[in-house]
Amino acid sequence: MDEAYVDILVIGAGPAGYPAAIKGAQSGKKVAIIEKKDLGGTCLNVGCIPSKSLLYHTEHLSTTSSFQDISKKKSDAIVTLRKGINYLLKKNKITLYEAEAYFPLEGNHNPDRNTVIVHAKNETTNTKITAKNVIIATGSTPAIHPSLMKYKELMLTTDYIFSLEKPPKSIIIIGGGYIGLEMATVFARFGSKVTIIEALDAPVKELGPTISTFMQEEIKKLKIDLRLNCKVERVEKKNNEKNVFVSTQEKPFSAEEILICTGRTPHADNLGLENLPLIMKNEFIQVNEQFQTNFPNIYAIGDVSSKSRAMLAHVASDQAEAVIDIICHNTTHQRYEHHIPAVVYTLPEVAVVGYGEENQIVKKAQNIKIPVASNGKAVATENTSGFVQIFWDKDTHEIVRAVIVAKGAGDMISTFTLAMIAELTIEEIARTIFPHPTISEVIKEAASVATNGKAIHV
Ligand SMILES: Cc1cc2nc3c(=O)[nH]c(=O)nc-3n(C[C@H](O)[C@H](O)[C@H](O)COP(=O)(O)OP(=O)(O)OC[C@H]3O[C@@H](n4cnc5c(N)ncnc54)[C@H](O)[C@@H]3O)c2cc1C
Repeated sequence: MDEAYVDILVIGAGPAGYPAAIKGAQSGKKVAIIEKKDLGGTCLNVGCIPSKSLLYHTEHLSTTSSFQDISKKKSDAIVTLRKGINYLLKKNKITLYEAEAYFPLEGNHNPDRNTVIVHAKNETTNTKITAKNVIIATGSTPAIHPSLMKYKELMLTTDYIFSLEKPPKSIIIIGGGYIGLEMATVFARFGSKVTIIEALDAPVKELGPTISTFMQEEIKKLKIDLRLNCKVERVEKKNNEKNVFVSTQEKPFSAEEILICTGRTPHADNLGLENLPLIMKNEFIQVNEQFQTNFPNIYAIGDVSSKSRAMLAHVASDQAEAVIDIICHNTTHQRYEHHIPAVVYTLPEVAVVGYGEENQIVKKAQNIKIPVASNGKAVATENTSGFVQIFWDKDTHEIVRAVIVAKGAGDMISTFTLAMIAELTIEEIARTIFPHPTISEVIKEAASVATNGKAIHV
């Protein structure tokens, strides 16, 4: 067995792992990273990037666009970005093991616990790596409720949906969360007959009632059949169709394909964590405020960590920076846990930051909601659907929640994230000059109305 020694060993090269490796190397540490599949993890290969590529390329489908061309563009983007990560690892002199990481029983019970042993195994090699610090960033996998596990073979997950060779004539999407809505948008634009089956009484419920209600109207415009309060009981294949039986009706929903989008589950299997053993919390690796597990020199970040809060790529990458500050500089960078933006990349996009709509802080706050309909850029580019809603504290006038529903909302929401971190008041946003013509001018307009009660364009 080959042997290696490093200061920091990172397991998993997704948006948590690879930035941690790069930042660790930039801090002067000897770093190695182990990845069992593809550089970039879920986000780059079967998540954020392919979904956004498909959403972008299907937005203006023409009669000459083909599914194959669009799929190729998506795959090309993935390959380009993967090569980029490979280049960055090399540039920062990080050793990459294309292998599966495993904590062996032997060697990991040293009484002072100042090193950890990890095996990097693949078909041809098995390297024993001794590391001063280990960062586990093994991410998550699609979650399937135990009652539906026996139908697993009949359903696609997001791990496979991006490899389809042609769009299905019809597709049932189980789950009306943000991933379900984005995939429904893609397939509806390709002409598939789309049905979303959601167990709750609203789609993207976690984003609050205002957004949920708005999304229901937008879904209708795409002729997507949204079925709420429907709990899936069983799935079957009959002839060339797949049937989904739900609790509320006898007749099943039928389609060529079924995509299950019912959340994600932390991925800590087959790592040998029981050999240490590491303490788990509801399938997540339990960590403290410093991302430390019960072994002080083993850390967990990203989707697999109990500090994940939101399983999002930008949260994972933020934790990567934080953990390296802790390991290398013994400092913690301030964490803005109520300032995590979330975006649904439908058209219009929906972006939100701050406390939840049902939170008492938001309930007690003042708020203003302005439509984008009369904004110059919105009219000129035929993107008039949407609104900006700002909630601000009555006493301090600081922003506590903001929602943007508009074309490009995902890019605009950072205005509010930054405003919240900088503790800016609604008046300061009103006085800020936004470039013309942009849809972002609605942010200023909303803040101006909030400040002096009058709008210019509404
Ligand atoms: C369809 C879809 C769309 C999404 N869209 C967005 C979006 O728009 N915005 C957003 O912020 N988030 C989005 N997400 C979520 C985002 O992808 C995840 O939050 C993010 O990838 C988590 O990063 P991570 O590094 O923790 O884990 P991952 O990206 O899952 O990476 C973990 C890596 O660890 C590797 N690994 C696991 N076990 C081992 C082992 N034993 N040895 C070696 N390697 C191992 C895996 O192969 C993987 O590459 C989306 C997810 C999906 C599925």
